[in-house]
Amino acid sequence: MMANLTKATTASSFRDLLSRARSRGASVGFVPTMGALHEGHCALVDEARRRCDFVAVSVFVNPTQFAPGEDFARYPRNVERDEGVCRQAGVDVLFVPSVGEMYPDGDDTKISAGALAEVMCGPLRPGHFEGVATVVTKLLALAGPCTAVFGRKDYQQLQIIKRIVTDLHLPVAVVGHPIVRDSDGLAKSSRNVYLSPDERRRALAIPRALARAARAFSEGERRVEVLLRGAHQLLDPAASSIDYVTVAHPTNLKPLAPEGCVEGTALLAVAMRVGATRLIDNIVLGEDPAPLTESNGRWSAPNQSNPASEAQ
Ligand code: AMP
Repeated sequence: MMANLTKATTASSFRDLLSRARSRGASVGFVPTMGALHEGHCALVDEARRRCDFVAVSVFVNPTQFAPGEDFARYPRNVERDEGVCRQAGVDVLFVPSVGEMYPDGDDTKISAGALAEVMCGPLRPGHFEGVATVVTKLLALAGPCTAVFGRKDYQQLQIIKRIVTDLHLPVAVVGHPIVRDSDGLAKSSRNVYLSPDERRRALAIPRALARAARAFSEGERRVEVLLRGAHQLLDPAASSIDYVTVAHPTNLKPLAPEGCVEGTALLAVAMRVGATRLIDNIVLGEDPAPLTESNGRWSAPNQSNPASEAQ
């Protein structure tokens, strides 16, 4: 699909393009990204297209969500390629602001992400979710009334954004899209380009651990300790270091006590390093399909389609 892609680099032109689309009666879909677009991002764009008449994508590598020593400087950037991907995907507006455009007078005003940012990645990446919450709020403020599509790959981020939209009464419908994976199960990520072939192979422990937990859960296992132990058996030998493996409440993200049992559904989330690359992944047990199936020690992609995206 080809569309007439308009590139906007200023906040005011982005706002105007979306306002004009709405005044023509079009519904607006919006997909915020950091670029280096891959099939995961494209699935979000397709979802926005399905739901809306007019689709905008932003590409902005937000400096305030990277801590000193993280990969801000070397984060993959290729706006020309991203522009081609957007054109191909039928995007109407591509917003590529500079840092000065998004933070014209510094970053004094910040959005605090609250309790949802105090668990999982929060303590390990100080300031990260404040940076995310601030930039996403700015982007949604510019976009105006719209349907904004985010990936469940960044599950904690998605819950934080849903909470911001509710608490700040933003005129935005948030849609969470299922995780898009390579055929071997690894979740697509712009950071996968950092992985050496050996590291990429080791990273497969992550979808396999999630798949094992999903299978155990579907067979009736509800003990948190047993679900965690099963995941660690695959993850520990593959990881260079583990930030966390957690079984948590699916919306408030509070970790469940290891000696307890899952009631209803639960989030199983992993953050670990393979080599120097930090990878995150997750599954909602009792809700998401297993990312892989295992038979006689062989792993394969399940031949089931992704579940429908959930709207807020
Ligand atoms: P990023 O460019 O990594 O900041 O991601 C932009 C959006 O794409 C976020 O909402 C991510 O959750 C989403 N996303 C990234 N990778 C995937 C994936 N493999 N599957 C689904 N959504 C994804």
